[in-house]
Amino acid sequence: MGAWGAGYSVLKRGGRRVLEEFGEALYPPLCRLCGRESSDAIACDAHRPKPRGDEGRRCGVCDRPLPEALPGGTKCWQCRRTSPAFDWVEALADYRAEDPVRDWILAFKHGGRRDLARPLAAYLVELWERSGREVENGCLVPVPLHPLRRWERGYDQARELAEALGEQLSLPCVPALKRARDTPTQGAPGSRSRHANVRDAFALRASRASRIEGRSILLIDDVLTSGATADACARVLKGVPVQEVGVLCLGRAGGAAYAHEQTGES
Ligand SMILES: [Zn+2]
Ligand SMILES: [Zn+2]
Repeated sequence: MGAWGAGYSVLKRGGRRVLEEFGEALYPPLCRLCGRESSDAIACDAHRPKPRGDEGRRCGVCDRPLPEALPGGTKCWQCRRTSPAFDWVEALADYRAEDPVRDWILAFKHGGRRDLARPLAAYLVELWERSGREVENGCLVPVPLHPLRRWERGYDQARELAEALGEQLSLPCVPALKRARDTPTQGAPGSRSRHANVRDAFALRASRASRIEGRSILLIDDVLTSGATADACARVLKGVPVQEVGVLCLGRAGGAAYAHEQTGES
């Protein structure tokens, strides 16, 4: 049987390989951002977000990069001076020119690519799992976009992201916040004026308070810059009250760059 058996098994293997290749030719995984073929189901090599560049040496509260002398997880000087109302931040990547996450966010926010909510939410699920954090009685709350900007864009990117993430994590998404007024984005606001700018920019949707009361909130936004927006939102949520407020976002702007960012009112 020897020769025949060997031939048969080669044929079988060959046949299987052809089928696999055929299958791949029919369904090649494509980068969800640029459409080029990719090695995984979400992004090509050029568009896969890079690991963060500071080896975890970041503030345990606001996630800002720390000076080299300080170990990761300690509080930065800003948080020592004024503790933000949120309890922690997890960011997928550094928001800077050389990180592909910037291309994703720009396309998602300003390029009409509403369809990117799902792959970006899948990245946030990975981030969440890597973080090892656990929440009891968790609930997702998106940072709300001003109605005028929502009208201009046709959708609210943080809400799209929160809804997609809610499906993937099996957690409820409750848009419990609204914009109380628009916040100016002109000029180059420093940290202090940013905080003054957004302090009462958010309000609770009273009818939704009962759905978040006592729960652990994951506040969802695209980019965290000075942290003023997340702080103002967390302050409103803690007034409900809720158990804790953590921030999950795609990009963390840090270092010298963040003072010049046109923040998250976007
Ligand atoms: Zn790509
Ligand atoms: Zn900090």
